Amino acid sequence: MSTQTSNSPSIAIIGAGMSGMLMAIKLIRAGKTNFTLFEKAKKIGGVWRENRYPGVACDVASFSYCYAFEPKSDWTRRFSGGAEIQAYFEHVAKKYNLEKYLKAETLVTDATFTDGEWVVTTDKGDTQRFTLLVDATGPLNNKIYPKIDGIDSFDGKMVHTADWDDNYDYAGKRVGIIGSGSSGVQATWPIAQKASHLTTFIRTPQWIMPTPNPHYSEFQKMLKRQFPFLGWITRKFYDWIGEQFGRAALNDGWRRKGVAKWCESNLNSIKDEALREKLRPDHQAMCKRMIVSENYYDAMQQDNVHVERNDITGIEKNGVRTADGQLHELDMIVLATGFHPNTWGVESIHGPNGVSLDSVWNKGEEKSRNYHSIGVPGLPNFFVLIGPNSPITNLSLIDIADIGVDYVLKCLEKFDNGEISTMAPKASAATAFGESLMTSFDDTIWVTGCSSWYFDGSTVPQTWPWAPSHFRETLKEPRWDDYEIT
Ligand code: NAP
Repeated sequence: MSTQTSNSPSIAIIGAGMSGMLMAIKLIRAGKTNFTLFEKAKKIGGVWRENRYPGVACDVASFSYCYAFEPKSDWTRRFSGGAEIQAYFEHVAKKYNLEKYLKAETLVTDATFTDGEWVVTTDKGDTQRFTLLVDATGPLNNKIYPKIDGIDSFDGKMVHTADWDDNYDYAGKRVGIIGSGSSGVQATWPIAQKASHLTTFIRTPQWIMPTPNPHYSEFQKMLKRQFPFLGWITRKFYDWIGEQFGRAALNDGWRRKGVAKWCESNLNSIKDEALREKLRPDHQAMCKRMIVSENYYDAMQQDNVHVERNDITGIEKNGVRTADGQLHELDMIVLATGFHPNTWGVESIHGPNGVSLDSVWNKGEEKSRNYHSIGVPGLPNFFVLIGPNSPITNLSLIDIADIGVDYVLKCLEKFDNGEISTMAPKASAATAFGESLMTSFDDTIWVTGCSSWYFDGSTVPQTWPWAPSHFRETLKEPRWDDYEIT
């Protein structure tokens, strides 16, 4: 067992994606380098390393989806593709020399709070002690492989969108996409351009917001390089737009009506009435995760694209069988079937007195499972970035992570000063938060009648039912009275 030697509190960060990197970099910028960044994969990047399917992009504008202290002036498009975002994070990781703190290809298998510290064990058999544990594994890292009869019998190529095989060339092949969430929709256009035939298996059609994604010209890039405040203004503008959409989800009003009309008129752009009706959602826009695309419906109207609404009854050697008895013969099946949310990345996290993440989060009472999205009652010195009930639907994830990181840094100051050695949210504080959640969703769009991963088995969505400003305010300063402190 190796023990941290420095007197300053040591920190284990699990996950070197956008939020874990941000935690690490803000620690470095604050002159606190007594931390280890654990990463199961070879490289940093998280979702942007894993999601390499054709068309993968971020639907938060490029100028907003980057660290505020590391702006980039030469984004190529309004909404960047995954590869460009991954290149940005790799550039930033290099600039801050994150390699020095990174334990790559190292899966944290257990974290147990013992004698006032977290004992972190990895799949390499190493054990290390830390004062604080920061879970930065992100809400969506656990891929869903659907339980479809005969799924293992398919003879062709099968990939999940988050596990793309760059070496497989689908040009000229018969491809099927199962799933029509953000990933399935993004993959549709590029695959439809190269595949000989594309079948999209759609269980629940979703509303699509038509959002053009123009390239920035060299002149625009030059201007932003010369005058960095233009990039800053652009970021503020897109942050404001994002906030307006966020508000549309919270209350019925002109914003929500506007989004609904916009999506409806996009749907009406489909010329063929039968196809239009096949793609008409039966829930309100934004009830499920809003999808933006500039070319999804164009792809759907191509001659080589077929929209299948019959249920899938099985997968066979040669393709997918649907409820009408038809076998859709395929060379490749793309599983755009999403993720089990909020699974925390670590199988086993144990606090003192028999409390574990599983006992509180999976098996505990729903109303007292988490504290302000950042903590879990009974687990001391444990913080989650972009945790359950954070405003994932109405604030950019980069902002949510930023607010969480600043919160951890504020707590860290107390450890640094020797004022405290442990802090855990009180069960009563988690319950108060849970109860206020349960009474605050009534006006929101997420409870208007649709199924989505926001629920994940809960009676209320695991989102933030208030405005982003309320989240900023809530996490602005730790509320020490809400914590058991030693
Ligand atoms: P998702 O939104 O959960 O969509 C999964 C899709 O698979 C749904 O259409 C679902 O149908 C379908 N499905 C699942 N199991 C099925 C089965 N057995 N048979 C038929 N269909 C099945 O997953 P996702 O598209 O990967 O997106 C997940 C989240 O990732 C998004 O909501 C978003 O937060 C994030 N994301 C963001 C971006 C971005 O641009 N920022 C891009 C991609 C993803 P039902 O709807 O009927 O369940």
